[in-house]
Amino acid sequence: MTPDEFREAGHRLIDWIADYRADIERRPVRSSVEPGWVRDQLDAPPPDSPEPLDALLADLERAVVPGLTHFQHPDYFAYFPANASLASVLGDLTSSGLGVIGLNWESSPALTELEEVTCAWFADLAGLGGTWRGTIHDTASTACLVALLCAREHASGLSQNAGGLTALDEPLVVYCSDQAHSSVTKAALLAGFGYDHVRVLPTERCSDYALDPAAVEAGIEADLAAGRRPAAIVASVGTTGVTAVDPVPGLVEVGRRHDVWVHVDAAMAGSAVLLPEQAHLFAGVDRADSMSMNPHKWLGTIIDTSLFFAREPDRLVEVMSTNPSYLRTATDGEVTQYRDWGIPLGRRFRALKLWFHLRLDGLDAVRARLRRDLDNARWLAEQVEATPEWAVVAPVNLQTVCVRHEPPGVTADALDSHTLRWVGEINDGGRAYLTPSVLDGRWMVRISVGAEPTERHHVEALWDLMRSTVREH
Ligand code: PLP
Repeated sequence: MTPDEFREAGHRLIDWIADYRADIERRPVRSSVEPGWVRDQLDAPPPDSPEPLDALLADLERAVVPGLTHFQHPDYFAYFPANASLASVLGDLTSSGLGVIGLNWESSPALTELEEVTCAWFADLAGLGGTWRGTIHDTASTACLVALLCAREHASGLSQNAGGLTALDEPLVVYCSDQAHSSVTKAALLAGFGYDHVRVLPTERCSDYALDPAAVEAGIEADLAAGRRPAAIVASVGTTGVTAVDPVPGLVEVGRRHDVWVHVDAAMAGSAVLLPEQAHLFAGVDRADSMSMNPHKWLGTIIDTSLFFAREPDRLVEVMSTNPSYLRTATDGEVTQYRDWGIPLGRRFRALKLWFHLRLDGLDAVRARLRRDLDNARWLAEQVEATPEWAVVAPVNLQTVCVRHEPPGVTADALDSHTLRWVGEINDGGRAYLTPSVLDGRWMVRISVGAEPTERHHVEALWDLMRSTVREH
């Protein structure tokens, strides 16, 4: 494809995307295709000669779009908001169009330095001053893995430079709550801690599902007494299920007392750093060792944009650094080499989408949207609480409302079946998309308000739909 051909096709594709977004509301939120349907539609060998763009666009409409769940739909209330603001899409396109790769600073100084600029914006917003600095990973899962690799190497006195984990006498231990995202346990397993050394500590409704520092302290004492070495505490600010907020100041104190790395996972709730009135959520984070947040969730910078901050970046670089001859340059030592801040060598120009997003939309508009979502979530929670047979089953700390419909006499497994039936009906119907999830051993339904186009009337329509669906049972 020549630049002129690209120009023509690109204009048409941008039109197609703009039409898709403008019209998205008429589509069912969740795909209803059967497994294998998309594959069957497109199961042809690649063409030997060029095909016209029209043929591709026709297949996109015919066979790809029906296989999509529309995350940008105003009636999308599932998992978490995964907003892809169109301003950030332009930044992503620019990154692809430029086609540059970060290998070292010299391979594209702007790629490194714009990442430093955009990370500094967010470090400031999150109150991470002093030595804190950031980088952009693909996901919070990667960020957590990087944090736990640092924790492992800190606790083991850089064991990777000698015999590695397998040569240690004392097993290393990680602590988190039972509300922590599954990526925390996965990261611990991948970092070699082993399932036996991941302490998933229970939380309770009466403490808003937050991790108790005293329980972590007790776990650490027990592990020390048994000859194990505590290495990391993962605190969550905004857990996946119920948006629980672990008490970071208390957990940092425990971590400091035992020289244990504290990582704060604020993947979802981190977007609230834009709101001064939510600053309490991030109290104490500046004394942790690392922190991650995903602008690719509620904030609206298209995936993959996960910010990872380290209080002492040298400790990160010491674990991640490689220095083969072919990557050495005259500026080494003077500049940031982001390849030494994470796992991959080749890096995309991710900062562009964050930069485009915030510059083209502006912080005020994003703040107004986040506040709108908080209002909408509060409104929904009030309706649910005020309605007989309905319950809000977890605190509404941000924009996620966890609910259950509890008809009289329907309990235990029958209640679970009822919950899964009504939420399944809504999801199958395509008019909204919600996520069932287990809390305290019982199914409930998470309503995650915050898709970019979701206005109050969409939340009102959802509430009507929920009530009419259970009435039909
Ligand atoms: N941590 C929390 C609290 C989350 O809610 C999620 C995703 O929902 C993750 C981590 C994982 O995020 P990612 O998909 O960026 O790895």
